[in-house]
Order: sequence, then structure tokens, then C-alpha cells
Amino acid sequence: MVQVRQMVRCRVRITGAVQGVGFRPYIYRLATGLMLKGWVRNTSFGVEIEVEGERSSVEEFLRLLPERRPPLSSIYGMDVQMLPPVGYGDFEIVESSEETGARVAILPDIATCQECLSEMRDPEDRRYRYPFINCTNCGPRFTIIERLPYDRKNTTMRTFTMCPRCLEEYNDPGNRRFHAQPNACGECGPQIWLEDATGRVLARGDEALRACARAIRGGEVVAVKGLGGFHLMCLATSDKAVGRLREGKRRQEKPFAVMFRDVDTVEEYAYVSSEERRVLTGVERPIVLLRAKGGLSPLVSPNLKSVGAFLPYTPLHHLLLEEVGSPVVATSGNLTDEPMVIDNGEALIKLSSVASLFLMHNREIARRCDDSVCFVACGRRVMVRRARGFAPLPVPSPLPFDRPVLAVGGHLKNTVALAFDRAIYVFQHVGDLEHAEAADFFREAVEDVLSLFGVEPGVVVVDRHPGYYSRRYAIERFGDRIVEVQHHVAHVLSCACEAGLEDGFIGVALDGTGYGDDGSVWGGELFVVKGGLRRVMHLLPFRLAGGDRAVLEPYRSAVSLAMGAGVALPGRLVERVGGLRVTLVAQMLERGINTFTTTSAGRLFDGASSLAGVRDFATYEAQAAMEFEHAAVDEEVGAYPFKVSSVIDWRPAIARLVEDVEKGVPAGVISRRFHAGFAKALCDACLGLSGEFGVDRVLLSGGVFQNRLLLELLMPLLEASGLRVYVNQLVPVNDGGVSLGQAYYVAWRGRCA
Ligand code: ZN
Ligand code: ZN
Ligand code: FE
Repeated sequence: MVQVRQMVRCRVRITGAVQGVGFRPYIYRLATGLMLKGWVRNTSFGVEIEVEGERSSVEEFLRLLPERRPPLSSIYGMDVQMLPPVGYGDFEIVESSEETGARVAILPDIATCQECLSEMRDPEDRRYRYPFINCTNCGPRFTIIERLPYDRKNTTMRTFTMCPRCLEEYNDPGNRRFHAQPNACGECGPQIWLEDATGRVLARGDEALRACARAIRGGEVVAVKGLGGFHLMCLATSDKAVGRLREGKRRQEKPFAVMFRDVDTVEEYAYVSSEERRVLTGVERPIVLLRAKGGLSPLVSPNLKSVGAFLPYTPLHHLLLEEVGSPVVATSGNLTDEPMVIDNGEALIKLSSVASLFLMHNREIARRCDDSVCFVACGRRVMVRRARGFAPLPVPSPLPFDRPVLAVGGHLKNTVALAFDRAIYVFQHVGDLEHAEAADFFREAVEDVLSLFGVEPGVVVVDRHPGYYSRRYAIERFGDRIVEVQHHVAHVLSCACEAGLEDGFIGVALDGTGYGDDGSVWGGELFVVKGGLRRVMHLLPFRLAGGDRAVLEPYRSAVSLAMGAGVALPGRLVERVGGLRVTLVAQMLERGINTFTTTSAGRLFDGASSLAGVRDFATYEAQAAMEFEHAAVDEEVGAYPFKVSSVIDWRPAIARLVEDVEKGVPAGVISRRFHAGFAKALCDACLGLSGEFGVDRVLLSGGVFQNRLLLELLMPLLEASGLRVYVNQLVPVNDGGVSLGQAYYVAWRGRCA
């Protein structure tokens, strides 16, 4: 087959000071200079652009856009979506859209800009090495705002009185700190100091920073107060330091993120494509999951081939990383999966079992905001966790809301969203509502969302699962205004909303768990939306024994899949897990004791992982599936046969998989064959549905699409079949995106249901 030059369409939404500064003509020149087609227009959010052309030219456009922007413009957020081409004929500046006055009232936190960094590194500058330097283009926003409007007196900066020199900058329209609300300097602004675990102050200012860096270099674990909470930090190259952090944090194997001083250093430890470089260095500075080259402690991401890399995003981080001189693990300051600590006193109490030193500062954090996480697959940024840098920027809705809608999300990786007019504001990652602290944070988040915007919701959307805390709380708090949305419908609609679609598509929702309309556990669902929504296909259901224990005990899925496929369990699996356990689970399944029916794709991958000998017991959700993915060999080695009819039947694939295991085929080959077979089955299913229903768009959503290998196998297959593919790029593809889909449902059902 001849490799055709790949055409892509790219939608860019820029939030910032981009109107009235020559931005649209600038975009016109940049786009036409690169032979790109499309359009640019002003919106109530800033500027919206679509460019279409060769992938390399589009990438070049995205790289140059922030670099060469007009001098008076500022970019506070730049959301990029790769979409199927539509065939524009030329490039034009189009009239502003009629979007209603949903101005962006609250900005996200913005990474330190180049000018501030230069000043901070200039010994002659009055802010030399000042860890809180900022300007109109950068600095804290969302994490310091207590109420609107965004004025200094309504932020946690109100306790600092600007010195005459800072005040002069603040009042001078020609100054780059004109009306920069967090403006400060070493004389008048926040300060840092270092404490030991008893709260004794050891050093202040620059000496505190140097002493903290020395401790990190010496292998200590330290707690560092940042923008949206505390981080726990230690040397990422030291097994001893990372081991100590794991022990203290009681987190066995779930991967840690690593902060690198700059992008060149990242490249010493990981492969970085041009798209990944752009995402890493963007104003949002998310954690980007990259392919690791090695060099870090294996305890950073055990049994995975990836590293979650990010760059410094506050002046304090820049100074610290420069001083340490090596990559540093920077993980949320909390114990196991609680929300991250934001208060100095609380940090001493909660983190002193793991951190020996505390780098504190006296600017209060108004609201918690974790680091965001994403990865790039097939040139698209796929969101995993949306918080700092992105929240609470809105996602435009293709349909208007006639009254405010609050959506309270799911249960795991919870987020809350508020919709009004034509925008859906998705707030920051809350977390897993299993924990009492996370439930507290969830209630705070709900009140926070409503009070910040001063809105009373007319409709409140919840998941259908009767056990979800978010649902129970919402019913108690807003009993008379509740609307239920099925979990996977919400997943699909989150993707539809992002893509700007109302009707005429296939939705593929693959994830771990979701309450189905029939009361069983869904998680491998195909919908067709055409003048209404129908569940048209799903994975062949299987039984699981022991309720939620299957999540952390993938061998339970393995036993069930093997029984379902009518094959004997691999002898080695029985040896590893123990005959007693296997027999017990098999008996429960046979007699139907404490079992439930599921179509979960997550559990299918867990079970395949265990059958292949990769992992039988997990220490965190999806670990088995992740390690299975990462085990896969890079080359094509064939595909297991799934059968596609009215269901996607995994039995022939599982039978072949077990056959391979018994033959001694390596797990890497088995993994690749399983992924390739499953991708092909999904593609066949979509092609069939496309023909039957006359739709050619395929929307992918749900936590299983955090599997990059699956995406990279599936998307080209679908595209080569002439289908147009969409995946979540703005909100998390996992349950963090459910709130967006729930909110959109309310506007959408009037039109389509
Ligand atoms: Zn700045
Ligand atoms: Zn000052
Ligand atoms: Fe889900």
C-alpha cells in the first residue's frame, strides 16, 4: 500500500489576551505561510482556529503559534484537538460566532513565563532568585482565587501589601505587570522557609532552598509546598530514596511522576516526539506519559516502560530543580490515595511519617489542584487527569443550556462540572470517592463550583449506580432536580461534546466498571446515536466471582474467561495462584455464589494479563492491564481471533491465548496478539454498524482507552476503513470525563432522545 501524506484537521482554542492585538491577522499569515487551509475567529473565550493540511505543517503551525505571537498578546490556555479532515478550500478570517457572553471569569494557573524566568536569573534584577515572581502572563490564578471578581483582595494574596515599586508596576498600563493580581517581590510578597518534622525552622529564603536541594541530593524525602498542594520529592535516580518514599507513602507500585529541569534533560531519560515536546512545554505543563529510555530508579514506575514526566511550572520549582541538578520524583503530598495536602500545619501532621524536611511558604492555597496527566497517541493528546493548568476552563457545548446544569460525575477519578449558556466548566480532579477525605473534597468541590459562579442549578445529573457516593450526596442535597445518565452513555457523550457532535455516530465505551441499564456491570459497550441512542453491541458477558475483589485480583477474571472459553487454566497460573484459590473461584462461578455478570473490557484485559502470566494480583486498579500492555513486543506477530456478531465474542481469542501460554510463547508476543486481535474486532464491529446504520464517525471513550497500544492499533485501522475517529482530548478519557458527558446529556436529550 502506498503511504499517502497524512492530512489532518486541527482545532485550536486559545484562551487569553488575544483580541484587539492583531492576533487574527497573525494567525492568517502563519497558516497561509504553511499552506494550511481553514479559518480563525474571535469567540467569547478568546480565539478559535481550525487548520487543515499535512500533519507536519500542522505540527509546525502549533509549534510556532505561541513562539511568534504578537507582543501584546498572552496565551493562558491552548487546547488542541486533532480531528478528521473536512476539506477546506482556503484560509479565512471569519466573523465572530454568536456565542453568548460566557466570558472566561476564572483562569487556570499558568506556568512561569520566559520573561519572568530571565528576570529571576538576572543578578541585577530586583527579583533575582525570588520564588514567587509572576506577571500578567503567568503565575497562580485558580489556586489563589477565593471569590470573584478576580481582584487581589479576593485572592489569598490579599494578606500581602504591595511595596511602592510593585504597586507602581501594577498601576502602569505600559508595564508587563499591569493589574497582575499576584504581583509581588522579595520585599513585600510571600516567603519560603525550611522546617523539620517537629516544625522547627531551619533556614529561610535562598538558604532554605539550598538546604532543601542538598537534602534531596543526599537521598532524603522532602515535602514541598507548591501551587495546588504539597508534593513529596526525592531523587528519581536513587532506589533508596524512591524506596523510602514508597514505604512512607504506603504506595507499593503505582507509578510516580518525575520533574525534570528542562526538556533536554527529559530526552536523556525518555523518547520525546515533537507533539510530546509541545505538550510538555505548553503553558499548562502537564505530566506527559512518555516511553522511558532507562536511567531512573526502577522503583519509579515498576514493570512499566513509561515515565510520567513534567517540567517545573513555578519559579520555586525552577530554582529547586536547578539546584538539585537531577530529576526528582514529585508526587502528590498525601498518604495512599487521599487528596493532596494544602495546609502547612496539616502537612506536618500527615506527611512527617514520610518527609524529613518541609519547604514551606506563606501564600495560602485557596483550592487544591493536582498536576494534570496526559499522553500522546497517533498525534493526539489524550487526557488522563485534568486539573492544574486546565481547570476550570470550559469546554464549549455544541448545544445551548436553557438553565444551569450541575453534573456530579462518577465514583472513581471524580470531577464535577457546571454548565450554562453554551459552556461546560469541568472543575479539577477530585479523586476516588472511596476515601472519607476524598468525599469531603467532593462536597467542597460541589459548593465551590456553585459559589464561584453564583449559580443555582436547575438540573443535577448523577450516575445510575445506586452505590456511588456522588449520586447519594446529590440526591440528598438536590433531591427534586435529579436526572440520571447511564455511565457509558456519559462517556460517549463526553467525546461527542468535545467533537461538537449531536447525532450520527458510533460510540465505543470501554472501561472497568459502570452500572448498566439491566443492573449488570457494563464496560464494553457500543452505541449508535442516530435520531436517538441505542446500545447495539457489547462484549460477550461473563461471570465474575467475589464482587469488587476482581479489580485487585485479576486471576479471578482469568479463571472466569478460561471457563467461559471452555479451556483448562494454564498450569503455571494454578501454580502461581494456588490450587485452592482457583478451585474456590471456580466453584463460586459454577454455583453462582456471590457472582455477577459483566461486559467489562477492563476485566477482560486484566484476565488476559493473568492468563499470560503477567500479573495475577494487583496493588492498584488497572495495574494488570497496564503491565500487559507494556509487555507487548513492538513488531507485528499476528492477532487472536475474536468473533464479531451481535456481540464481541472473546472465547476463540482466549482459547488461542491459553494455547500459546501452554506452548511457552513469550508474554510479549501474547500481549501483542491479544491487543491486535481486539483492535481488529472493534474495527470490524464499527464497520458493520457503519454499514447498517449509515454513520461513519466513531467516538472512543472510557478508561480502557488509556491503553496507548490499543489506541495506536485501533485508530489507524478505523481510519484506513474510511471511518472518522474521535477520542477524548480535552477531558479525561476515563471517569474524569463523565461529568462533561452527564452535563452535555441534558442539552442533548432535548434534541436527540
Ligand atoms: Zn511572567
Ligand atoms: Zn514588592
Ligand atoms: Fe467509566
